[in-house]
Amino acid sequence: MDNPPQLIRTREDGHRDGYESPVVQLERNRNLLSAWLRGRGINLPIYGAVVLAYPKQIVAVPPAKTKILFPNLVPSYIRSIPQQGKQLDIDTFHWLSNELLASHQPFIPKPISESFSIPFGDFKPGVRCEECGRFGMIKLPRTWNCPFCRAMDHSAHQRALLEWFLIFKRSITNRECREFLGVDDVNTAKRILQSMNLLSNGEYRYRSYMMDFNNINFFKGR
Ligand SMILES: [Zn+2]
Repeated sequence: MDNPPQLIRTREDGHRDGYESPVVQLERNRNLLSAWLRGRGINLPIYGAVVLAYPKQIVAVPPAKTKILFPNLVPSYIRSIPQQGKQLDIDTFHWLSNELLASHQPFIPKPISESFSIPFGDFKPGVRCEECGRFGMIKLPRTWNCPFCRAMDHSAHQRALLEWFLIFKRSITNRECREFLGVDDVNTAKRILQSMNLLSNGEYRYRSYMMDFNNINFFKGR
């Protein structure tokens, strides 16, 4: 076991934050990849390393057994891995590459207010204008209007609701939608929510809507 067993980040101002150890994360990812390969009848050795994103990051206490690399050292690390046993034949290699791509799914992290315990009140509600960046676009029939720069944007609510699901929580009710978008009318909010192809749960005023993040069609048209 490494000491300390978690990652402690010390910022320039001396502030310290604790995170899960990257060594534990690496080990978990290795196990998951290994199980994924075994499930496809492939037995390959898996080498792991922790790659630091920025050269400014300095490791005060390096882990005992885990390789730590900067990005520019990744190619030479890969070349230094000993070649052992039989290589995959080219057909299996292509098949495996396609399997990897087919298994890919977008990573949608937990809403940030949940992950970092940030109260809702610390975020500014309202629909943000893409032209001038200010909050408070006003709903007009079939579009949104910015009272500051007069910009029009018929899909401004889509961006705002996507942000709701990423920032606050996975679900939204009609009332939350009205408060967040600054819309007074229940039926307007209902039409907005129904236009987004969301999943829904419950009836009438207890109904809540959830974004189906696996349905990436929503992102495509943007
Ligand atoms: Zn504006």
